[in-house]
Amino acid sequence: MATFLNPSPVFGPVRSRRLGVSLGVNLMPCTGKICSFDCIYCEVGFNAKRRTKDPFTTMDELTHTLREALELMAADDDLPDVITFAGNGEPTLSPIFPQAVDAVIALRDEFAPNAKVAVLSNGTNADQPEVREALLKVDDNILKLDAHSDDLARAIDRPLAASYSIEHQVQTYASYDGHVIIQTMFLEGMFGDRNVSNTSYDQVTEWLEDVKRIAPQYVTIYTIARDTPAPNIRKALPDTLDAIADRVRAAGIRCQVSY
Ligand code: SF4
Repeated sequence: MATFLNPSPVFGPVRSRRLGVSLGVNLMPCTGKICSFDCIYCEVGFNAKRRTKDPFTTMDELTHTLREALELMAADDDLPDVITFAGNGEPTLSPIFPQAVDAVIALRDEFAPNAKVAVLSNGTNADQPEVREALLKVDDNILKLDAHSDDLARAIDRPLAASYSIEHQVQTYASYDGHVIIQTMFLEGMFGDRNVSNTSYDQVTEWLEDVKRIAPQYVTIYTIARDTPAPNIRKALPDTLDAIADRVRAAGIRCQVSY
């Protein structure tokens, strides 16, 4: 399937289903992917197909390229709604992530003070003190929670660490005292001979209990929008997403849906 790599260190702007006009910051090399997950729905492709020996983006490359991009956008009076850490993998794995957050906030303040700074993260480093400190500084700290059971999360997200546990993730997310947005990919289908659907009533009930414990700013639920590396998975239907969103809202939590 036609997965793709993003340019680095800045890409877009792209019109994001969830975020508006988003200027992307990619701390990974443009030649490959670096992630602590290997999600079956990853639009960048499976890790094994995206190995790279090239280094992470440096601070100089980031600040120079982002300044240039924002200057151009300001000259066109076309500034982004959000500057988003995303791209070819997990942004918090970059050794410059904490400094990069400070630099992006400073450039946002200089050129686009109305724009938000967001991080799309799988949450695996959210318990690390320097990462946590950085995530607490951004406007939108968007962390992944794709299932309640370790077994299903492992089937969908394929974390590289044997120690990954949803209970630990939920406790970590809850420790952000509401400075967290939960993002969940809902999908259906098979991966090999494993059913990887996470949309059943009971699965959503368990996931929602985790969400309530986390007490996030809001929840953003979405489904497959582009080609995926796994061939036999499919979008959750709009009615399914709407029914899940209704249950989140009935629990008193704001919910955004992208179909
Ligand atoms: S966490 Fe994001 S970048 Fe990493 S494998 Fe999953 S979808 Fe891809």
